[in-house]
Amino acid sequence: MLDQLKAYFGFDRFLPLQEEIITKVLAKLDTLVLMPTGGGKSLCYQLPALRLPGITLVVSPLIALMKDQVDGLRANGVPAGMLNSAIPAEEASLVQDQAQQGSLKILYVAPERLALPAFQRFLHSLEVSLIAIDEAHCISEWGHDFRPDYRNLKALRREFPGVPVIALTATATKQVREDIVTQLGLQKPEIFISSFNRPNLTYTIQPKTDPLGSLLHMLDKHRGESAIIYRFSRKATEETALELSDRGYSALPYHAGLDREVRRETQERFIRDQVQIVVATIAFGMGIDKPDVRLVVHYDLPKTVEGYYQETGRAGRDGLPSDCVLFYSYGDRSKQEYFIGQIEDDDERDKAHTKLDQILALCDLRTCRRAYLMEYLGESWPETDCGGCDICLLPREEFDATEIAQKILSTAIRTGERFGANYLVEVLRGAAIKAVRDRGHHELSVFGIARDVDSDELKEMVRSMVSNGLLAQQGSGYPTLMVSQQGRKFLNNREKLTLTRPKQVAAAQRAISEQGIGIRDTAYDTKLFDELAALRLEIATDREVPAYQIFGNKALQQMAFHMPQDEVAFSKISGVGDVKLREFSEPFLKVITEYMQANGLASNVEQSPRRVPVTAPKKKVRGISLSVRETRDLVAQGLSLAEVAEQRGIGETTIRSHLEQLVQEGGEIDLEHLMPSNAKRLKIEAAFQEMGEARLTPVREMLGDDYTWQELAVVRMGMRQRQAEGVG
Ligand code: ADP
Ligand code: ZN
Repeated sequence: MLDQLKAYFGFDRFLPLQEEIITKVLAKLDTLVLMPTGGGKSLCYQLPALRLPGITLVVSPLIALMKDQVDGLRANGVPAGMLNSAIPAEEASLVQDQAQQGSLKILYVAPERLALPAFQRFLHSLEVSLIAIDEAHCISEWGHDFRPDYRNLKALRREFPGVPVIALTATATKQVREDIVTQLGLQKPEIFISSFNRPNLTYTIQPKTDPLGSLLHMLDKHRGESAIIYRFSRKATEETALELSDRGYSALPYHAGLDREVRRETQERFIRDQVQIVVATIAFGMGIDKPDVRLVVHYDLPKTVEGYYQETGRAGRDGLPSDCVLFYSYGDRSKQEYFIGQIEDDDERDKAHTKLDQILALCDLRTCRRAYLMEYLGESWPETDCGGCDICLLPREEFDATEIAQKILSTAIRTGERFGANYLVEVLRGAAIKAVRDRGHHELSVFGIARDVDSDELKEMVRSMVSNGLLAQQGSGYPTLMVSQQGRKFLNNREKLTLTRPKQVAAAQRAISEQGIGIRDTAYDTKLFDELAALRLEIATDREVPAYQIFGNKALQQMAFHMPQDEVAFSKISGVGDVKLREFSEPFLKVITEYMQANGLASNVEQSPRRVPVTAPKKKVRGISLSVRETRDLVAQGLSLAEVAEQRGIGETTIRSHLEQLVQEGGEIDLEHLMPSNAKRLKIEAAFQEMGEARLTPVREMLGDDYTWQELAVVRMGMRQRQAEGVG
């Protein structure tokens, strides 16, 4: 089995549970596999398919995923095909012929076909050895993704009574699990449940104080890598996408209100690395299996913990370190409470309230986020320090909170103990908003007594005081705060109070970036990695497949670390199977060898390639990519942006974003020949200064259509250059 694992898939060993599952499948037992995204489910039926006689049927709900899988298998030399509504009739009949002649090992089929008598006859003409049901939760109405077509699978089971079935899903709840077993008619199934922990994901939940600033900071850490940003509303996705494009990022919005065709194209471009960032409502991500998403941001509060887990789960399928960041604010909370209040059905509304409380609890947590998630998913989690969430990574410090606690309690008393945390904080901070003035609370002695404390910090203290009993919460929805017996005792006896808070913000930020959030620990040579990635993109573009189907990032990282120089060494890289060795060793070895010669490097192969982790201490800073350098060189030769775009076959916006990157990195580049006329240039500069901000949209609105985006962008780059030189 290990030989086949290496020859076809390029892997040296199994991931947890894979071998046990495969053994049961080969013994013709029914199996149910529950594994998180990225757990390696596909291999559990793909490898048996190669070992069993005849053909393996795979039922899969999403056409895009099907295509991705089939392309991936073919790239590895596994004869696979698919039948679904997107395949033209002629091609479909070709696939059917191949299946009947026994030249396919794996056939993917869409569930809606299974009900057609003609299709059933076709299936009976095959030697079916195994039936795999991917995304098996789709059969359950309890799941989040019920598909009526999946009910056809019952018939499939009846039609092929002796053929083992393997059902796979990343949904773990007990209800769904039991439903799958009954609905599919699995017989005494062996059930495999792996841990749903995603060790390579780092979870961070932070106050939504400067969300855009924090977002930009995260994106800079993940420059050139794929990211998904989730937002609450369609409008918000468009705004954020625009804000990012304005700043030179490659970003597109995605939501259900967009044209089908536009959505398809955005997905496609994301998968092909032609756009880096997608700003989406939750509608995005179901149909994609992109393994190298490095960052998932929840810009607004998610509705449920399940949703949060699913969406963050789209990061890091390839097992490499990835970041999940959530911005949390009381405003978002109230917004959702408002929407929940609109739900008419009492039951539904209660359920929604409970779900909201659960996600709020996750945000408010002072203990490990991962532990909470795991317990939520029904797994016991004995560890206290996961080393991969903001709580565990950010040291907290104790501080004397006596005085501030007194102020908070006094404010509650003076305002009549009739208000919630938000209102108290407004009064404490001296916000002369209408609600406060109407009640005359701006005239109280406590008005503004905590002006110097950040409002998020105050809210956190209020929360802590609720949890240690100094304040009592009343009512749900918008709870009011009263001073408890204990709170009065605290005031009267002048007791002391110690609370904790994150260690000084600056120090904390540093701790985060040193310990992992957003940092790929890179012992591999990042420059070589970039060159290999450029080659990969070139080959992928030629073949019209996503880059990750040529090689995953893990494979490139290993190449950039071990620097293999011959086929034998190259074949040891994870992800290099027989076919890929034959097809790609030459061009990749060439890049590696040339790079080593150019830089006077020696190979790392001696250092026992299998055991040295690719992700060890950091050595080099990520430089600008090969592609950006190419743009730079062409612009330096005096070409216009349009000419560079044409010559390189990339869009002008991308070329522009290359230049923005260069300028930001302080790279030297002469922009003079790209500038508009002097008169225009002065007008644009004046406009930027007048607007007092660096975004293009307001300036463009001010100046009108006579000025192109490009002119604005180039002038802005010029201004930045001068500023960097200390002239402007
Ligand atoms: P799932 O369907 O469970 O989300 P996949 O089957 O897509 O997961 O596998 C996730 C990733 O793990 C893929 O990039 C796959 O190539 C990789 N993978 C699967 N099995 C192995 C293995 N034995 N060794 C190394 N990587 C593996
Ligand atoms: Zn933790």
